[in-house]
Amino acid sequence: MPQTVHIIGAGLAGLAAAVGLAARGVATVIHEATEQAGGRCRSYDDAASGMRIDNGTHILLSGNTAALGFLRTIGAIALVTGAPTARFAFADLAAGQRWTLDLGAGRLPFWAFDRHRRAPGTRARDYLALARLMWPAPDQPLDRIINCGGPAYEQVVRPFLLAALNTDPAESSSDLARAVIRESIARGGAACRPYLAPRGLSAAFVEPAVAYLKAHAGAIRFGRQLRRLVIVAETVTGLDFGDGIVTVGPDDAVVLAVPPYVARSIIPQLQAPDAFRAIINAHFRIVPPPGLEPMLGVLNGTTEWIFAFEDRISATISGADRLLPLPRDEIARMIWHDIQSVAKVPAELPPWQIVRERRATFAATPSQNAKRPGVRTAWRNLALAGDWTDTGLPATIESAVRSGTRAADFVMRL
Ligand SMILES: Cc1cc2nc3c(=O)[nH]c(=O)nc-3n(C[C@H](O)[C@H](O)[C@H](O)COP(=O)(O)OP(=O)(O)OC[C@H]3O[C@@H](n4cnc5c(N)ncnc54)[C@H](O)[C@@H]3O)c2cc1C
Repeated sequence: MPQTVHIIGAGLAGLAAAVGLAARGVATVIHEATEQAGGRCRSYDDAASGMRIDNGTHILLSGNTAALGFLRTIGAIALVTGAPTARFAFADLAAGQRWTLDLGAGRLPFWAFDRHRRAPGTRARDYLALARLMWPAPDQPLDRIINCGGPAYEQVVRPFLLAALNTDPAESSSDLARAVIRESIARGGAACRPYLAPRGLSAAFVEPAVAYLKAHAGAIRFGRQLRRLVIVAETVTGLDFGDGIVTVGPDDAVVLAVPPYVARSIIPQLQAPDAFRAIINAHFRIVPPPGLEPMLGVLNGTTEWIFAFEDRISATISGADRLLPLPRDEIARMIWHDIQSVAKVPAELPPWQIVRERRATFAATPSQNAKRPGVRTAWRNLALAGDWTDTGLPATIESAVRSGTRAADFVMRL
């Protein structure tokens, strides 16, 4: 068991690693480059809209056992709200149609056999095509394994996989798509109930984790950007933050839980994903009109998901690279136009903010998936964590938490 574990990066992977170690009585120190924990999953006070907003609305599913387990450990499970059943309301803007995909609450995907519970114009056998994906096969673009077209794909499979993979599903890794389906839809509605954090991501995922660590011999240091590792005889012996070196003792370990492009700058020989996809989120300061669903899937619009919170309407667009060149106010107007199509809201834009996360996740393609390293490195006491390490899942909270827990287990065995 290590004496002290230094964790670089206070995103969810770093926090999960620290919590996993703190729970076993190991002293941890997190070194975070910015002044805030949470990384790509955080809240902040936004002056333009006058709201506290999340960098992006994050959804968990009830099948995300590691993420929900993390929330239980840090005492924050009550800060996320789970829908009682896996019902997903959709609005098809081209067809002017509203419908609900009802995956129910059971463990088997019976919904596909009930035309009132599946998407309009689809047949049970359209969904059975997904079974082809379940057969083990070499990782390849999804469209080489299943037909990426037709109503069941366009109305159910595509929106669901795009949200999980943040990559056009047709070009995405069949291994990652299989992992997503296996841990969600294939397990029935019981694994697909959506969870949201209505009081914000930091309130649910980050602040309780930091409080837990402080109560369990954990320290967190902000404004500490790791520049370089000091290595002697295949062992990390120091952490260079530019203003002095922190000594890593012979019984200490280090978990590097930074994004892949930072990890590569610190370990140049590391193979890691190097292509990314953007996510755009919009937040509008307006009390949602009565009747607007808490979470609404949008087909044939700019927007993919609309969320009604107490004090605002938010919207998410995954794989949003095509929109990055557009001015922010144009993006806000396009999204507001979609919201107007589904809810009784004024034509005039309320106070808004657009958050563009250019490198929201690594591109979930087969070639990028092949570049994901494991927890072990060439250095005895250095472990890797992050949603981009080879967890077998796309870049999600679940992947980040699993990677952090795995890194904690790894250093415990040193
Ligand atoms: C807009 C958006 C929406 C998303 N939606 C969902 C969703 O709905 N559901 C879901 O499950 N997932 C979602 N995700 C993905 C999820 O946010 C990530 O998978 C997860 O937060 C990644 O955590 P991480 O710890 O691996 O990485 P990061 O959050 O990137 O953490 C890395 C940390 O390292 C720090 N750091 C960087 N360099 C250094 C350095 N040199 N020294 C010290 N510290 C350093 C960073 O500041 C950061 O705090 C979304 C992501 C985005 C951006």
